[in-house]
Amino acid sequence: MSDTPVAFSDLNLPSTVLKSITELGYETPSPIQAACIPLLQEGVDVLGMAQTGTGKTAAFALPLLSRIDLKSNKPQVLVLAPTRELAVQVAEAFQAYARHIPGFHVLPIYGGQSYSLQLKQLRRGPHVVVGTPGRVMDHLDRGTLKLDELKAMVLDEADEMLRMGFIDDVETIMAKTPAERQTALFSATMPEQIRRITKRYMRDPQEVKIASKTTTMENIEQKCWIVSGVNKLDALVRILETEDTDGIIIFARTKTATTELAEKLEARGYAAAALNGDMNQQLRERTVQRLKDAKLDILIATDVAARGLDVERISLVINYDIPYDTEAYVHRIGRTGRAGRSGKAILFVAPRERRLLKQIERATRQPITQMDLPSRDLVQNKRLESFREQITSIFNDEDMTAYRELVDQLAVDTELETLDLASALLFMAQKEKPLILPPEPEPRPRRDRDSERDGKRERINYADLDVYRIEVGRSDGVQVKNIVGAIANEANINSRHIGDIRLHDSYSTVQLPKGMPDEVLQHLKGVFICRKKTEITLMEGEVAHPPRRKPRGEFKGKGRGGNDRNGNRKPRRDRREG
Ligand code: AMP
Repeated sequence: MSDTPVAFSDLNLPSTVLKSITELGYETPSPIQAACIPLLQEGVDVLGMAQTGTGKTAAFALPLLSRIDLKSNKPQVLVLAPTRELAVQVAEAFQAYARHIPGFHVLPIYGGQSYSLQLKQLRRGPHVVVGTPGRVMDHLDRGTLKLDELKAMVLDEADEMLRMGFIDDVETIMAKTPAERQTALFSATMPEQIRRITKRYMRDPQEVKIASKTTTMENIEQKCWIVSGVNKLDALVRILETEDTDGIIIFARTKTATTELAEKLEARGYAAAALNGDMNQQLRERTVQRLKDAKLDILIATDVAARGLDVERISLVINYDIPYDTEAYVHRIGRTGRAGRSGKAILFVAPRERRLLKQIERATRQPITQMDLPSRDLVQNKRLESFREQITSIFNDEDMTAYRELVDQLAVDTELETLDLASALLFMAQKEKPLILPPEPEPRPRRDRDSERDGKRERINYADLDVYRIEVGRSDGVQVKNIVGAIANEANINSRHIGDIRLHDSYSTVQLPKGMPDEVLQHLKGVFICRKKTEITLMEGEVAHPPRRKPRGEFKGKGRGGNDRNGNRKPRRDRREG
């Protein structure tokens, strides 16, 4: 993020769109937005190296929205996304940015949804269609989606589409769109197959890659917490209660988030206030002064409002929302460790933002160590400790004579022992911070935690899987990734829950979670894999096993493929991509 950020108002966006962005609390364009919006408005093709969490959806949605002709009821923008979740998310983002454009219509289409519903919605003439490649292909084949008036096409998370086996579909779809359409492709990485697409289907694409500076921040201890189990607000409160801190600054992404969080913390008894671009200069200065004077302990700020903030007593920075890029991160954590002091920075990372975390670690060349949340016992002990301190200081500093008499009186009035009376008073005094906390929830099963920790495949319990036979095989040209992609998207089964897949000549087997509902199977039967309608049947009596690994040193010439004792071709064991 440079020191003189562009403003949304500099970006030539229609006033209706600007109004929505303001209402959503976006303060300034993120780096990818500042770079992409003008390019897409000029009509050039854009190749964005960006990942989730960088604001890339708005980077393409905002400029493309300004080009929609509301009078035409044919799709003018097509976005391809790897999963139904992303398709829905992108469609919702379009809808949110277009909330002041009357008559604007966006439609997500994805596998798993009934065709008749989609047909009805397509007939209503959406201006923007956001879909998963398989379903878009189906509608193109059926003639129910017409792309002859398409002005722009976006490939979102292209590397994910490649990983899920959709890249051929993507190419086929691109080939069916008007040659003069504009294209934007977003991908976190640029594998060769994606480069190929950019060469074949894009015109002189402008690359947008936000460079990150490296800096050293040796006096700042950096930690991260991967969000799981506990919501971010509760996690924040646990940290605030157990860390020994002086001033604290918490970074949130939007102005609205800063005020909401400030209110929530105030309600929990913290001296907290928001600091954002909606406040005038004078109010901002006054707020910062109150932090300096220790009248406030916590500021919840946006990046822009906290730019250049220099308050020595800030000992902790919490990145409640992960920043878009390394530069913003470095700037944020640099608010602590001022004037030669040491500081601490904690970053909250949602599982889907892990890639941003890696990017920050790579660019700063500093590891960010993963931390556990403070335990319930620690929180409880800290509360008791501070309660004890308050009691002691009251006894030291105040004259308690009148209160002692009052206690005596109350004991007589209520006919209670002093101990019972004290416990009732303690109960009343704890207010919003209970001194006895409910027990910690049971830890979730190991499987869940494993899958969160390594972010990849959870260890599959093969006893929980059944074996199914699908009537499409190697002779149809099927690859494991095609099967994973179809099942993951159409049956909405996370690819982590799909077991071993084996390809035979005329059929394949796939291991799926036991107890698959009949409607999911029925639905899968209507799905095309390699242009063949999926015939899927349970292989009764067949037990799911993990893929057998080859012993080290096994002779490589045999074993893959080859013939069995009866002279039939042996199935090749294909390992799935993770
Ligand atoms: P994305 O990378 O598109 O998934 O966006 C990540 C999140 O950032 C979404 O919740 C957006 O609403 C939010 N966002 C996008 N652009 C901005 C912006 N300029 N200011 C604040 N938040 C934003």
